[in-house]
Amino acid sequence: MTQIIDGKVISKQIKDELKEKAASLKSEGVSVTLAVIQVGNDPASTVYVNNKKKGCEYIGISSLSYELAEKTSEEELLSLIEELNGRKDVNGILVQLPLPAHIDEDKVIKAIDPVKDVDGFHPQNVGALCIGQPGFVSCTPAGIIQLLKRSGIKIAGKECVILGRSNIVGKPMSLLMLKENATVTVAHSKTANLEEVTKRADILIVAIGKPKMVTKDYVKEGAVVIDVGINRDENNKLCGDVDFDQVSPICSAITPVPGGVGPMTIAMLLNNCLESVNLQK
Ligand code: NDP
Repeated sequence: MTQIIDGKVISKQIKDELKEKAASLKSEGVSVTLAVIQVGNDPASTVYVNNKKKGCEYIGISSLSYELAEKTSEEELLSLIEELNGRKDVNGILVQLPLPAHIDEDKVIKAIDPVKDVDGFHPQNVGALCIGQPGFVSCTPAGIIQLLKRSGIKIAGKECVILGRSNIVGKPMSLLMLKENATVTVAHSKTANLEEVTKRADILIVAIGKPKMVTKDYVKEGAVVIDVGINRDENNKLCGDVDFDQVSPICSAITPVPGGVGPMTIAMLLNNCLESVNLQK
């Protein structure tokens, strides 16, 4: 029978562990604070930001909220980041993406002090991941590793195909799977014979942003399938990049959308917030 990997249950386990860790830090006199910055009022970003603040509350750490107007200039945003970089009482800084078009995202990511970059997007943290040094790891890929490990899925020695090569999911995912000793292939929109490539996978991780594109023709029987996509289908219902109804009967384990990878991202962000205390020592 296909194992449905329940991200809600696993993320709750992690958050409960983090709650204990936060309480123990508090008893040592260490308090942890995450600063969350949102520019503009994109409704999806507002939902993500609120969930992040609720997550902080749940595990017992503080959050500071900066809701800036859509017309905020790049200079104003950079100067707020500089102020937060300098504040000893702020451990993590998160700028909700995407930013309005007049602000250069790369510049903003680079402005965050790498030891406060809880999203793990700063080039220094990406570089550290690449060469196996301590640093923050991008939350969604880190969450996928936890999903696999906590579901009893072995990674070492497995053929892993990652579909998608974005800086926030596909690329860091490939580095983490390599670190776990998988044999890794990264596929993308220019990959030739895509179905043949994805069919090699014992573990197939899909992050392309194309609703239900991955049908059973892309999946080897018995594979583990991780669906990162968050899309709306023709009926405006949330769906992944994988056609769950077609693929779930032939794979050994699969993540649903919603309720698979999504809840893990916040759990790993909270993990990074506590981790920041060690990195800042
Ligand atoms: P990007 O748009 O940044 O990257 C998409 C990648 O998919 C690119 O590498 C692109 O290839 C590749 N791709 C696009 N179309 C195809 C195709 N037809 N065949 C093969 N490869 C293709 O997306 P993200 O990585 O940011 O996000 C991917 C999905 O994951 C989205 O649905 C997003 O909403 C979701 N997401 C979910 C998160 C969660 O918490 N669950 C967190 C982050 C993202 P190329 O490089 O050649 O253009």
